Order: sequence, then structure tokens, then C-alpha cells
Amino acid sequence: MSFEQLALDPRLLKAVKGSGFQQPTDIQRQAIPLALAGKDLMASAQTGTGKTAAFVLPTLQRLLQPATKRSVGPRALVLTPTRELALQISDAVAQFGQFCRLTTGNLVGGMPYPAQNRMLGKPLDLLVATPGRLLDHMSQGRVNFSRLEVLILDEADRMLDMGFIQPVKTIAAAVPAARQTLLFSATLEGQVLKIAKALMKNPERVQLAANRDRHASIAQHIYQADDAAHKRKLLAHHLVQDELTQALVFTATKRGARRMAKVLDEQGHATAALHGDMSQSARKRTVERMRRGKIRVLVATDVAARGLDICSISHVINFDLPTVAEDYIHRIGRTGRAQASGTAISLVAPDDRSKLNQIERLTGRRLERSIVVGLEPNSRPSRNETRSTRGSKPGTNPGSHFRANNVGKATSGRRNRKGSPLKKGNPRGRASVRRQDANSNALPTLG
Ligand code: ADP
Ligand code: MG
Repeated sequence: MSFEQLALDPRLLKAVKGSGFQQPTDIQRQAIPLALAGKDLMASAQTGTGKTAAFVLPTLQRLLQPATKRSVGPRALVLTPTRELALQISDAVAQFGQFCRLTTGNLVGGMPYPAQNRMLGKPLDLLVATPGRLLDHMSQGRVNFSRLEVLILDEADRMLDMGFIQPVKTIAAAVPAARQTLLFSATLEGQVLKIAKALMKNPERVQLAANRDRHASIAQHIYQADDAAHKRKLLAHHLVQDELTQALVFTATKRGARRMAKVLDEQGHATAALHGDMSQSARKRTVERMRRGKIRVLVATDVAARGLDICSISHVINFDLPTVAEDYIHRIGRTGRAQASGTAISLVAPDDRSKLNQIERLTGRRLERSIVVGLEPNSRPSRNETRSTRGSKPGTNPGSHFRANNVGKATSGRRNRKGSPLKKGNPRGRASVRRQDANSNALPTLG
């Protein structure tokens, strides 16, 4: 199916072609006709599948019809959890709407109020907002929703995870009941489903790929570590591999992100931190530098990295495992964007076992345990694992229990900490070795 067959306005089609999209993705194919027909819609699909265009295109098409009411305020409202996402959506709106005469704007935290106040005092076609700042303006009586025709909730699961359930309810209650509601989410379970049903009238449901099928194109590895120092060594090893083009490293705290970026910088990596304490413009600059390839290793916290859309990220490295298992899925979705394949590496200390269990339960599969020769963990994780490694020197006997993974590549192209190439065939060079796991779909055995 082509974009032409979706019956989009020629002005939108022209912009879609201009952005290099050849054909609609699955979610776009399914969601756009329903949204164009004016239906309420709840849609779920994994990250990177093109949900933004799935709601932006039909909404812009609706806005090409003249407004029925003369007043100030927005005709369409997109709610999204973070500033980064709001700005990304605004970019997509500007791109797809470039041949339409529409007024659009965004309302996010960290931006000055006067310009936002002025914007709210005028008629507006589409507004992209984060719930916090929008509520702020609403409580000052500055928002007129009388013209609102479409309410869109993007990354609904994440908005609820971030504690925006009450703001979302308050905002939904303040907009006209006779509206179209579109909800997009990575999952449609539990609370998301509940709130979706509460906000919609006879919604259509589009659901692509369940949890367990997601991220099939992403190789996921677990490396067991004894402690933080061991994790740092494993990280240093992975960061100098040739196949790593750009990495996103997750830490649990802002402080951790800052510190790690400093250490990596001292080791000679092109690196930067991305966290919630940074100003909006500093974050934007950092993301832009990453996108342009000026940064190779970005160290981030969950909130800051949410929705980050950089296609060239080859590796996501969980230095700290996320506290909420769902975040694991969101994190690894930052690699393998738009068809490319990616690698997710999680460094797991003994304290992290229960977090790992939760992640494996959520994803419905046992994640592959890997080791780096020379950096094996001291404490064997389980009897199971011990049995399969005993008696074979890892790397010397790849046929039996271990399979050597890119040994040649790892020893010839690796660099040392300062960034200069290691001696070719360095006998101390470490190769990644992966345990062949015939039973990788089994439930977790650690614990
Ligand atoms: P999601 O919101 O589902 O995580 P996005 O809307 O952010 O996904 O899209 C992910 C990436 O895929 C973006 O870089 C976007 O430009 C690209 N993309 C979206 N739709 C298409 C398409 N039909 N063809 C090619 N690339 C697309
Ligand atoms: Mg999205």
C-alpha cells in the first residue's frame, strides 16, 4: 500500500514524499484511515514504528477543513510525556504541514511564559504540550478549549508511568466531550487500557506485536558483573568494539550520568551526558550533536532519553538496570530504529538479579548470558550456568559450550583506552564469548 492510497491531501502527500518516506508503516496503514474517518482510536506498536506520522497526518488533514467555531485556543491538542518528545512531534508537524497554512505551537516546561501566554491568546490549529506546563496555564485560566476537535495522547503508557494520570484526566475533562480522541502507546494493558476506555467513545483498536515479539531485530545480552568497578571494565571493553558506532549508556541517576560522562571523556571518548537537570536548550544541543555524530557515547537517564530518535545508535548499554521493567523495553527501543538492527547490553551485578527477573518475565524470554574472556564474573550466577562453563576454558574450545563471537574482529580492530589501536593479534585481547543457549526461550532461572 502507498501513501497515495491513504487518501491524504496532496499538500500532505508532497511533504511525506519530501521526507523520504516510501510507503506507510503497518501502524500508519491501519491507523490513518480510521483516524481520517473521525473514529476514536487506541493504537499500540513498538517504538520506532512511525506512530508520530500515524496521528500527525490525519490530524493535519482534518485541520485543513475550516474551523467551525471562531475563538482562540487550539483545535487539536497532542499530549506527550517529555519536552524532547514534544519538540520531536513539533518538528514532525512542521515537516508534514509545510505546505499547509496552519498555526502550530508547543507548550513545554523550561520555556519562558510570556511567549506561551501570547500564543494561548490567539487561535491555534495544533498545540503540542506536556501535561505539567499545560495544567499550569489552565490553572491560570489562560487556555480556551472551546474550539478543540481532536485530543491526542502520545506515549500514553509512559505518561501514566511518569505519574501524569491525574493531569491527563483533568485535561481530558476540560476539553469538549464532542471530540475525536486518539491514543498511542507502546502497550495497551492495565492502566493504559482503563484510561483509554474512560476517555473514548466506541474506540477502534489497532494493536501491533505483543511484548514478546517486540525488538526482534535487537540482539540482547546480559553480562554479569561482580561490582561497579567490574561493570566499568566491561563498559570500557564494549565501547572500543568496532561494531559500536554510537552508544546510549543508561545510568540510574543524574549524578551517575554526569560522573560517567566525565570518566569516559577522560578515557578519550567523544561523550556527553543527558539528564533532567540540564536546561532545555542544553539538552537540545546535546541531542543535535549526537545526531550529527559529534558524540559517540551519550550517557543518559530514563526520563531524558525517552523518545530519543537517533537512527545511528548501534548499542544501548544498561550500566544500571532500570527499576521499572517497562523501562527496559523503552530503553532498548532507542537502538534498532526504523529497520536497522541493534544491540542491547545489560550489565548485571548480584544486586540486580530481581530486576533482571522482572525484565525477563515482562519480555517473556530469558536473555542471553554472555561473557568477555578475561572479564568473567567471580561469582557464578547459578548452578545451571556453572555447569555449562566448567571444564572448558572459555574461548579455547568454542565448539563445545562456548561459541566465539567475532574473535578476529575484536582482536584486530580494538583500541586501548586512549583510543590508539592495540597491537594486532594482541594475545591479551579479549574476545566476546557467548554461551550457546539452546533454551533461550525458557523462563528465568536466576534468582
Ligand atoms: P514511534 O513513535 O512509533 O516510536 P516515530 O514516529 O518516532 O516512531 O518514527 C521512528 C522513525 O521512523 C522516525 O525517524 C521516522 O522519521 C521514521 N519513519 C516513520 N514513518 C516512516 C515511513 N513510513 N517510512 C520511513 N521512515 C519512517
Ligand atoms: Mg512516538
